[in-house]
Amino acid sequence: MNKNPSDVDIVICGGGPIGLYLAGRLMQKGFSCRVIEKKMEIFQHSRSLGIHPVSMELFERAGIAGRFLESGLQIRRGIAFWNRDRLGEISFDNCPKPFNYILALPQWQTESILQDWVLSLDQNALIRGAEVITIEDLDHSVTTTYKMENGAQNTIHSRFLVGCDGFNSFVRKSTDIPFQGKPYPDSYLMGDFTDNTEFGTNAAVYLHEEGLIESFPLPNGLRRWVVKTDHRIQEPTPDLLIQLIFDRIGHKLSGSNCEMLSSFGVQHYLAQMMASGNIFLAGDAAHVVSPIGGQGMNLGWLDAEACSESISRSFKEPQKQNSLFLLYSKKQRKVAKQVAKRAEMNMWLGRKESSKLPVKWAMAMILNTPLSGLLAKIFTMRGLGKWWI
Ligand SMILES: Cc1cc2nc3c(=O)[nH]c(=O)nc-3n(C[C@H](O)[C@H](O)[C@H](O)COP(=O)(O)OP(=O)(O)OC[C@H]3O[C@@H](n4cnc5c(N)ncnc54)[C@H](O)[C@@H]3O)c2cc1C
Repeated sequence: MNKNPSDVDIVICGGGPIGLYLAGRLMQKGFSCRVIEKKMEIFQHSRSLGIHPVSMELFERAGIAGRFLESGLQIRRGIAFWNRDRLGEISFDNCPKPFNYILALPQWQTESILQDWVLSLDQNALIRGAEVITIEDLDHSVTTTYKMENGAQNTIHSRFLVGCDGFNSFVRKSTDIPFQGKPYPDSYLMGDFTDNTEFGTNAAVYLHEEGLIESFPLPNGLRRWVVKTDHRIQEPTPDLLIQLIFDRIGHKLSGSNCEMLSSFGVQHYLAQMMASGNIFLAGDAAHVVSPIGGQGMNLGWLDAEACSESISRSFKEPQKQNSLFLLYSKKQRKVAKQVAKRAEMNMWLGRKESSKLPVKWAMAMILNTPLSGLLAKIFTMRGLGKWWI
């Protein structure tokens, strides 16, 4: 498909989880790819922890699900509390098998698995320490220039370019695609500690009058705690997180081994288009949803799968390129809106003002009847359109 050995079919700007997965899928379909990533190394700070069943199904199709299963921990149940009282639980057991669980795996490990896979398909596919600095979208190709850490500049020509370059996407800004949305008023404090609870592989969610607490098991004996705060904590400390948890639910974390600590605000933004000319957007470059509910990265993989299909079909039927791009943009924006609504519901439940008796009764009713199955489907990102299949 390449006319010039220095050219490739697709350039991907950004080698985070979405760019890497997309590259692997495109190469499996027979296309040549270059992923241009400005960081020399995978970012070790833990962000995402949950791989949802919809993503495991994609990985199964790609033949890589086993690699994730080897390292991840299967969460099959979530226990819900109202303040300190147990309300009920959500079990994922009755969700469609075999992926009837959420797989907990820190994002850096996820990226490491995807990177190994990409390099096994083509050891030259990933260029690290390279920042994309200009893009020229021509009639039937895209010219991308990137700068190496030593200042050297290189140019690469491709049929298509995909921007997987995250929230501050250079590709999105270069193509003048509006990014609309807003921050939410919510803020959280998050940390990974040695697990000293009795929850085992279960998640726990405390709907508390002082604000939400979530607790998720991680591999290697760790547990993540996410605590809603009244405002964004500028200088978070493990002691503050420990104190907040103790005050609200009476559980004392062991503070000597805090593996990660982060304070964050949340927001929702959506690109007005996810494709323009010969350029696509996927992942956080196209949409940002609140991490409460843990869906952002999984949503990005749904984009990547749909994007790889649209590109593949465009190579086969170039006359349909415009309609295929429009379809991708329309359908994935719709999925992103659905995901954002689910995240908003999760955040609303965790706010102080939701901590009212009617909400408690409604939650108890849902959790202790077959309706909990519906909630399990929502939490595992079921029912989002896989329109490209
Ligand atoms: C606290 C927190 C918890 C989260 N938890 C979850 C969760 O449990 N589940 C979930 O699904 N999601 C979660 N998310 C969201 C998830 O982390 C993101 O959705 C995901 O990282 C998006 O991946 P991406 O590849 O689109 O973008 P990114 O991960 O941002 O990667 C973009 C890449 O592009 C590179 N780049 C940028 N500009 C350029 C350039 N000009 N040239 C070359 N390279 C460039 C960057 O270096 C980066 O490596 C969480 C997020 C946060 C903040």
